[in-house]
Amino acid sequence: MNELKGYPDSYYAATAVGVRAYPVLEENRRADVCVIGGGYTGLSAALNLAERGLDVVLLEAERIGFGASGRCGGLVGSGQRIEVLDAEKQFGYARSKELWDFAELAKQEIRERVEKHGIACDLQRGGLVGVHKKGYLGWAREIADVLAERYSYPFCAALSAEESRERVATDKFLEGLFDSEALTLHPLNFTLGLARAATEAGVRIYENSRVTTYSRTDPAKVETASGSVTASFVVLACNGYLGKLEKRVAGKIMPINNFMIATEPLGETRARELINGRFGVHDTRFVVNYFRMSDDHRLLFGGGENYRSGFPRDIKNFVRPYMLNLFPQLKDVAIDYGWGGTLSVTVNRLPHLGRLSPNVFFGQGYSGHGISTAIFAGKVIAEAITGTASRFDVFTQLPIHTFPGGTLLRYPGLVLAMMYFTIKDRI
Ligand SMILES: Cc1cc2nc3c(=O)[nH]c(=O)nc-3n(C[C@H](O)[C@H](O)[C@H](O)COP(=O)(O)OP(=O)(O)OC[C@H]3O[C@@H](n4cnc5c(N)ncnc54)[C@H](O)[C@@H]3O)c2cc1C
Repeated sequence: MNELKGYPDSYYAATAVGVRAYPVLEENRRADVCVIGGGYTGLSAALNLAERGLDVVLLEAERIGFGASGRCGGLVGSGQRIEVLDAEKQFGYARSKELWDFAELAKQEIRERVEKHGIACDLQRGGLVGVHKKGYLGWAREIADVLAERYSYPFCAALSAEESRERVATDKFLEGLFDSEALTLHPLNFTLGLARAATEAGVRIYENSRVTTYSRTDPAKVETASGSVTASFVVLACNGYLGKLEKRVAGKIMPINNFMIATEPLGETRARELINGRFGVHDTRFVVNYFRMSDDHRLLFGGGENYRSGFPRDIKNFVRPYMLNLFPQLKDVAIDYGWGGTLSVTVNRLPHLGRLSPNVFFGQGYSGHGISTAIFAGKVIAEAITGTASRFDVFTQLPIHTFPGGTLLRYPGLVLAMMYFTIKDRI
């Protein structure tokens, strides 16, 4: 059997290590917890639960890491998706600091998991944010100072345009913020490594086992086309791929598609001339451009989104203009891979965690900042199921609004909002 069957044709699939075929669920089983979804949220929840001694079954509709977790940019930024000054305005300093500290613990969890389980996912340090418009001048200095003074985080440095250019060969960055403790990783290999660790901890993983429905009972009966799991707890970890499985949370998130390309190998010298290091980079645009070098010296570049159910037919040529806008010097470079993925955003970009009933938990809506947030969401869901909900409840108290128009009419509103922000980006 082709071990990559079912994965999109991405650079990550082409460089995957430790791909393993898990069986299809073809029986009726019992478990303490049934986790639905085999990305960071589901695997983190499953692994933490199994380590606490629970009997866990994880059901994945496709392959492990089929969703955003196996397709994303691999940039692990510090903090939450909304920045600290916004968070302070919304909830005050104490809650903002608490959320910042959670994100630091999430990065620590990633580093520890990689080390403990020997996950070969090319974990690297460093992240640069490039300021793309004059209206944001001064932002980098202000944030670096606030983080150092109020958040005990002295690892960010403000860069001038020239200092940014020494690190990233684009003249589009007017200033920069360098975070020496941000991370990057190979997202699919990290996911596959978490799945291996979960299996070793006792989790029973099933692939190609899409959950069609589950009962609102205690215990719950979770059903697939060819089997079922009767479980005391259910964890919904489907994020942008939730579809119609659970209407009660679908209206709080908007699935959006985002796209990536990988160039041909550039060679060590040209790669270093382009980005002087293995750190991740993104800009301050609303629809963000993000990129980094792979260990075989390809530029992995993400840019462009759409808000409907299909992907553009030619993803390589959809993303390439975003890359050339920043790096016109790459116009001779071939694009070897182009792929897309679906993530979910919330109205105010805060993560959406909660309980639908005492035995049904969910985590979703990480809004493009999902690696660390999903890993932490899985961990605090596991804590809540095993009786310690204090950190989980910090998230459940965040205000998450329903998209205007609900699941049927939310797209027209989003497209208008995105057009507005895209125009604002250019001003
Ligand atoms: C192109 C792209 C780039 C991104 N870049 C970054 C980045 O650089 N940094 C960052 O922090 N975040 C990034 N993100 C966001 C991040 O990838 C996600 O937030 C994160 O991976 C979400 O993990 P998850 O486990 O919640 O969801 P997913 O990884 O999407 O997993 C959900 C899983 O649930 C499964 N599923 C759905 N329905 C069912 C069902 N009925 N039965 C069984 N299984 C089901 C799906 O098949 C899927 O595998 C990016 C996302 C995309 C798409």
